[in-house]
Amino acid sequence: MTESENKGQISKSHTSGGRILKGQTLSYLADPFLGEPTAAVRHHAAGAVWIEDGRVRQVGPADEILRAVPDLPVTDYGEALIMAGFVDCHAHYPQTAIIASYGAQLLDWLQKYTYPAELRFADSAHARQAAEIYLDECLRNGTTTAAVFCTVHPQSVDSFFEAAEARGLRMVAGKVLMDRHAPPALCDDAQTAYDDSKALIARWHGRGRNLYAITPRFAPTSTPQQLEAAGALWREFPDTLVQTHLSENPSEIAWVKKLFPDCPDYLGVYEGCGLVGPGAVFGHAIHLNPREIELLRDSGAAIAHCPTSNTFIGSGLFDMQGLRDRADPVTVGLASDVGGGSSFSMFATLRTAYEVAQLRGYSLHPAKAFYLATLGSAECLRLGDRIGNLAAGYEADLVVLDLASRPLIAQRMQAVEDLWEALFVQMILADDRAVLATYAAGERVYQRAAI
Ligand SMILES: [Zn+2]
Repeated sequence: MTESENKGQISKSHTSGGRILKGQTLSYLADPFLGEPTAAVRHHAAGAVWIEDGRVRQVGPADEILRAVPDLPVTDYGEALIMAGFVDCHAHYPQTAIIASYGAQLLDWLQKYTYPAELRFADSAHARQAAEIYLDECLRNGTTTAAVFCTVHPQSVDSFFEAAEARGLRMVAGKVLMDRHAPPALCDDAQTAYDDSKALIARWHGRGRNLYAITPRFAPTSTPQQLEAAGALWREFPDTLVQTHLSENPSEIAWVKKLFPDCPDYLGVYEGCGLVGPGAVFGHAIHLNPREIELLRDSGAAIAHCPTSNTFIGSGLFDMQGLRDRADPVTVGLASDVGGGSSFSMFATLRTAYEVAQLRGYSLHPAKAFYLATLGSAECLRLGDRIGNLAAGYEADLVVLDLASRPLIAQRMQAVEDLWEALFVQMILADDRAVLATYAAGERVYQRAAI
């Protein structure tokens, strides 16, 4: 990589006046699931991105852009690939410290690892430190937006958004709502859930790049009254998001059936409280019945597919083909589910998504996979017109990928015949070492050390 300015010294005057990044570029023109996948992508082997005022002004062949604006500072990334930053549409920042914890499935996982970790977030200093670690790890992995569960403590949300704001990131987060079947110190009630969430919406939603998500953990840890309060809040603030969990594990589903005997199914619990619609993101959704699939599709709600979590916690094999690769798809994005998920890396997430689909007899094409990890996840969050694509007018949240980041990958890349093979090699073999640089709103927020 060569740079026309001093390394690490990007001045504000450069970014406000515009700057150019040179490299290969990858943009989406359409949904690759709805036609020939490769036709949905525009690739420039010698491309450039013109960034101005935090947004992408133009993407195209480098010679054209450099002719149009010859005086802007240029960062030349050579053969590296510039694309939209990854969007992780479901994660838990308080679980960063328990990633890679042994031997539990969902309900034991919560009791044994999650709740003890979340109790510590009553302390703002602990929460702030955890948020810093979490966000730095996201940027090291090229993830520029995540939809994040905090804990029941309002200060856990403050700490997270403060840290996100300091980095200039577009982040989605919310206070977990939980008023039963959890340690008393982690429980609110229907009224305080409503009041605290409302105060957090007033403080954070739409401030800078932050967006709020109303966040009941999952049906078993909320009373019907609390879920009703969450629905009432969403009706009051319909431009906020909703995030929760759905049908991850058979024991969980049986428990929901027992707790809500009058509801037709698990999704019916949320439906009855007004929590199903565009902007509602349901984590996992592995074991769905036909009514639930139809309701997800017709309502415009979205699924966060969390493959490394589903294999690590042993929850099951998500049906990508049945839900997404059809004429009338459900909206689906990709997510790490850290710390139930075993990696911050969207490459690891893509690899496991591919492997899970393979176990169901379906091969996930790299054009579709990278779409899910960027624009697909952005669409889940109703942000598909702002982030998740390298296109004019989009916010300049970008990742620059070294396509030969390790000797094994470099030798494999010598034999690739086209872009798709190159992307497939990355999704199977790459990790955070492939992330050369990460940009948020046009500012470089991470740069890989020399390796
Ligand atoms: Zn989760």
